[in-house]
Amino acid sequence: MYGAGDVRVENVPDAQIKEPSDALVRVTRACICGSDLWPYNQMEHSETGARMGHEFIGIVEAIGGDVRTVKTGDIVVAPFAYSDGTCVFCHEGLQTSCLHGGFWGRDGVDGGQGEAVRVPLADGTLVGLPVGQDDALMPSLLSLSDVMGTGHHAALAARVRPGGTVAVVGDGAVGLCGVIAAKRLAAEQIILLGRHPDRVALGRDFGATDIVSERGDEAIERVRELTGGFGVHSVLECVGHTQSMVTALGIARPGGAVGRVGVPQQEEIPTTSAAFFDNITIAGGPAPARAYIEELMPDVLDGTIEPGRVFDRVIGLEDVPEGYRAMDDREAIKVMIDL
Ligand SMILES: [Zn+2]
Repeated sequence: MYGAGDVRVENVPDAQIKEPSDALVRVTRACICGSDLWPYNQMEHSETGARMGHEFIGIVEAIGGDVRTVKTGDIVVAPFAYSDGTCVFCHEGLQTSCLHGGFWGRDGVDGGQGEAVRVPLADGTLVGLPVGQDDALMPSLLSLSDVMGTGHHAALAARVRPGGTVAVVGDGAVGLCGVIAAKRLAAEQIILLGRHPDRVALGRDFGATDIVSERGDEAIERVRELTGGFGVHSVLECVGHTQSMVTALGIARPGGAVGRVGVPQQEEIPTTSAAFFDNITIAGGPAPARAYIEELMPDVLDGTIEPGRVFDRVIGLEDVPEGYRAMDDREAIKVMIDL
């Protein structure tokens, strides 16, 4: 990406092993993330460009001398951050704070929207998949690299519990995965705040019990009506705008929790005074997707959850610029790249 709206597919030097802890992965599936749309709209022009993409599945083509957990030929999924799996934060299940980890496309590391990736810290980062390369479950397994793990993280941060009431702010891929996560954690009422007909329809399929398409104060009023005037126990904030946070705090009931996973587009959390007097917990951040892959994968493999349904467009690598445009114009919920 060379700047806002300027995505190009270019030939670059081949990815290769540099460190003994690296693996070389040939990408078979990747995708475009809602968070890629922030730079797509705002990035200043760059002479060198930025490598894009942080969600991928691929085949291990080579490994460094220290790699033990994956071998050549394995089909693997990578979470959206790489991590060593051994430091204090990895042991605490917070791999996004790994002392030696980092993010794809930065600091000389390849992005996932490409033919191959040098994966640092392969032992801590990659997870083998027990299916064939063209398995029908691939879209759902790919969602474990980010959106499904992020929806699950929002649900945990919002303390979703059996029988509880939940609201999900945002009907993008993460919000829809948040609905899946809330249902999986046995919430009784799941209110999805969204207005795109195709998205809310999928949200209903995933387990949303109510849809609120109003915005702002009207949305807050509607959620309160649906919850006996109280608001919900758990709010999953999956957008990151000031307005979505105002809404999230406005629909949390006293003692409730907001789990925010939308990358904040402002420095301050709004309306915190009311949240303080209502004892509302505000938690969340980048999901340690790596921590959740093994936990969520069995539910994908047995068909209990189908997060791959958020992919409603499949493109080839040469069409990635068009994929960004389609997601930015809300023509597609989430775009998968099939290499
Ligand atoms: Zn670590």
